[in-house]
Amino acid sequence: MENNQFKQFKISRGMWVFFAKLSLLSPPIMTVLAIYLWDYVTPIDIFVFVLMYVLSGLGITMGFHRYFVHRGFKCKPWLQTVLGFLGAMAVQGTLLHWCAIHRQHHQASDKEGDPHSPHVGADHTLSSKIRTFWRGHMGWIFEGNPHDFERYIPDLMSDPAVVKLSSHYPLALLMGLLIPGVITGLWTLTFTGFLMGVLWGGFVRVFAFQHVTYAINSVCHVFGRRSYDTSDHSKNNWVFGILAHGEGWHNNHHAFPYSARHGLKWWQVDLSYYVIFLFEKLGVVWNVKLPRFGYDPTRNAEIKK
Ligand SMILES: [Zn+2]
Ligand SMILES: [Zn+2]
Repeated sequence: MENNQFKQFKISRGMWVFFAKLSLLSPPIMTVLAIYLWDYVTPIDIFVFVLMYVLSGLGITMGFHRYFVHRGFKCKPWLQTVLGFLGAMAVQGTLLHWCAIHRQHHQASDKEGDPHSPHVGADHTLSSKIRTFWRGHMGWIFEGNPHDFERYIPDLMSDPAVVKLSSHYPLALLMGLLIPGVITGLWTLTFTGFLMGVLWGGFVRVFAFQHVTYAINSVCHVFGRRSYDTSDHSKNNWVFGILAHGEGWHNNHHAFPYSARHGLKWWQVDLSYYVIFLFEKLGVVWNVKLPRFGYDPTRNAEIKK
């Protein structure tokens, strides 16, 4: 591991908590402001909200999660770069941090060592269940920079292109706030229009998708149905299947972690897989991994190349 890679990956606990607070607390504060200014909202503001929600969301679900963490498919270098930038625009930490934490989650799902389980430490009292649910949702982020987790991502850290992509986090974050503002600013030709775009396509959208993503760790490990007898508490939850671009089919995902497809039944809406499927047809994505049906819990999942 090169020294500079290590340095950019490691940040102090104080810095981690500071950035976590800044990136998690400013979106809800700005969302309150956006609601206060509701009378000034125009259709173009809602358009940039939806556009950025879908695109930055795909950066997380199709990019950070299914591509970088689980290697569910291969793609052209330009698409890797686009997915890395879009995912960073969702303001959920750098690519390397995100992937390390998520691999840690799969390794210890709902057991000691899972960075965000809503079950670990819970007893039968309601207050304890609420406390661990909150910890699984967002509380874990404020606990500080998890140590020694670079060991979960040796493949990513040894790839200079991925390390460089991850280091562009502040730039991508800024672009995610400014791009919707530029669109609404050019559309309305006013500075107020620009600010409303930053507010709705930037801050409010970040707030919405942060909680939708974190709900996969909290809600989808508590509420929903199970199709597979996995060793954790993962559930399939249709609400987050829709809101999180297919990630709500979380029990399917824990059963077949490497599968690029999470919605395994025709009615299990999975926007991320539809996009992967389309890109595969266009020739920019290949080696798409899918589960081979006939689940064996002792072997986790069978993967078809
Ligand atoms: Zn999970
Ligand atoms: Zn996963």
